[in-house]
Amino acid sequence: MFKKILIANRGEIACRVAATAHRMGIRTVAVYSDADTDAAHVAACDEAVYIGAAEAKQSYLQIARIIEAAQATGAEAIHPGYGFLSENEEFAAACEQAGLIFIGPPATAIHAMGSKSAAKALMEKAQVPLVPGYHGENQDPDFLHKQADSITYPVLLKASAGGGGKGMRIVQTSAEFKEALASCKREAINSFGDDKVLVEKYLQRPRHIEIQIFADKTGECVYLFERDCSVQRRHQKVCEEAPAPGMTEERRRAMGEAAVAAAQAVGYVGAGTVEFIANQDGSFYFMEMNTRLQVEHPVTEMITDVDLVEWQLKIAAGHPLPKKQSELIIKGHAIEARIYAENPEKGFLPSIGTLHYLHTPQAASFTRDQAVRIDAGIRAGDAISPYYDPMIAKLIVWGEDRAAALKKMSQALSEYEIVGPATNIAFLSRLMQSKPFATADLDTGLIERHQDTLFPPHQPVPFAVLALACARLHHDERDHSSDDPWAQHHGWRMNLQTTRPLQFSDEAGMIELAWIYASDHGILSSGDKRIKISDVHAKTHEHDDAVEFDLVADNIKVHGKVVRVAENFHVFHAGQHWQLTWHDPIAHAGEAELEGGRLTAPMPGKIIALLVKKDELVQQGAPLLIMEAMKMEHTIHAPSNGKVEDLLYAVGDQVPEGAQLLAFTATGV
Ligand code: ADP
Ligand code: ADP
Ligand code: MG
Repeated sequence: MFKKILIANRGEIACRVAATAHRMGIRTVAVYSDADTDAAHVAACDEAVYIGAAEAKQSYLQIARIIEAAQATGAEAIHPGYGFLSENEEFAAACEQAGLIFIGPPATAIHAMGSKSAAKALMEKAQVPLVPGYHGENQDPDFLHKQADSITYPVLLKASAGGGGKGMRIVQTSAEFKEALASCKREAINSFGDDKVLVEKYLQRPRHIEIQIFADKTGECVYLFERDCSVQRRHQKVCEEAPAPGMTEERRRAMGEAAVAAAQAVGYVGAGTVEFIANQDGSFYFMEMNTRLQVEHPVTEMITDVDLVEWQLKIAAGHPLPKKQSELIIKGHAIEARIYAENPEKGFLPSIGTLHYLHTPQAASFTRDQAVRIDAGIRAGDAISPYYDPMIAKLIVWGEDRAAALKKMSQALSEYEIVGPATNIAFLSRLMQSKPFATADLDTGLIERHQDTLFPPHQPVPFAVLALACARLHHDERDHSSDDPWAQHHGWRMNLQTTRPLQFSDEAGMIELAWIYASDHGILSSGDKRIKISDVHAKTHEHDDAVEFDLVADNIKVHGKVVRVAENFHVFHAGQHWQLTWHDPIAHAGEAELEGGRLTAPMPGKIIALLVKKDELVQQGAPLLIMEAMKMEHTIHAPSNGKVEDLLYAVGDQVPEGAQLLAFTATGV
């Protein structure tokens, strides 16, 4: 077995690989970019080598530098993780040439499966069923149009070199074909440097079912059953499970054997996944093969009790497959949910920023020791940057059956608390509890079709949540030297009764409250509603900024946690996360708005336009500059009338979060 390996990746998958290597007594070398100097994956490995700037092209995709790092540290093999160089045949070949073992298939197998078109041609020969379509060399638009017409609509155009759900166009009618083709080719050349496309029948209500295979260097190959990855947004997986609901033994064997035939047709070695698209009647077709470890591999590990990374390492070291097909069995049911920094309400747009607060359910990491597992590469205090994939963690649960696993998943999601970037946690909770998911009525259109239940209208903030936010405000302002919990230190020292108006807002608008201080309790009023708040007990945490409260609101016990980041109050109550912004009348009356940091970068990004010049006088609200972060544009406006004293960045500059963007003096409103 290897003594030392290099992990050419970052984030959770680098941590995941390091965990198994560590358990097997193999030393690990991390590589890192400027953005990852203090990243979790660097801490998880025994050594780390710096390889370049934050942009992946300058670091995690630098083949020569990664190979040099392996040679310099004496690593014998390289694990590529997923993404980045994992399906890059040039990288696999470069490893071989440098005398390093690439922990993955031979470069020839990566090549054979690298083009979706060429792979389909090969699969046709191996008699693996294919979606009806055209995947040949002829790229003449008229010819492709005729092919589409004869396949019959709707058809799907796919970039042959595509991946990650990109480079696809659904074409509903013949009239739309030409325009869709042009736009698909444009995206394909931009994203993958290759505009070759294929056309295939666009299946209605299909399921994405994939088979995990493993082959050793002697040509033996087994399948570790299926994963159902039908729940998707933008053709990208959101959650995955194993086994696939409704799968029969007979079909499982047929799909497993087809996957093994696909792998053997290209001389496959190591871990691979054959993705199939299946009709509701169970008929299935080859879609593509991913020649690497898959993001969702943990669900297979949970049901088979196999550590797939351990198998990868053993096979790369020349060992035979650890188990025969007949020794592999399915136990129970596993579900994975991908926790992303993204905003489901805004079309699942990625979000970035520092994780100010992170609380996770009780779980084991990277192992199958517990029914709840979390694979993460982000810790509290770390940031989701615009440079890499915005995945925060994978939450994986196991149960005796699907219902048990689902229950655990809902429970675990309700305990997952993050303050920082927007996340999809609340969305995942709704998804898990939705009828179609609960009843396993799965297909790739599930999210689209159930917009109404998955995106319910805005709910008014419950009184308990408002009480918790007020309790936190009160707690922070309280005179801690006094034993009297109601004693105030500024502005609101009360005699008998004092009424304090309070303004909070949520995304729907302002919430006007009044907090009446009485001798041993408070009264919270909103509109004509009045609630007595008493028996407030606060528990602070030493290591973070959370305060837990128990209080009684009109005889009802309320428990919750409030994390405060400046004026933002994050209330965690009854498994839900509410964000309220407090509007402090004092801060707004006295201090200049500039102090609020309005001229600083709200997130790391790039300056794309400067709209003012040095020494220019501007009016309040005038646009000053535009930055771009995560494919979105953000305009920075003048906080008041004033003068631009200096421009601190030029167009094209990358700016970190919180960086001052311009020097500005207010000249009064
Ligand atoms: P990628 O390389 O981006 O993963 P795939 O070919 O694996 O591309 O397809 C991604 C997703 O697109 C599938 O999981 C499925 O949801 C959808 N899809 C692909 N082919 C078809 C098809 N012929 N009909 C319907 N949906 C499809
Ligand atoms: P799978 O088909 O295995 O489910 P996906 O296509 O959903 O995988 O996701 C793989 C993608 O993850 C890559 O294409 C890349 O965009 C992204 N990625 C690559 N490396 C990392 C990483 N270290 N951490 C998180 N995401 C990554
Ligand atoms: Mg795919």
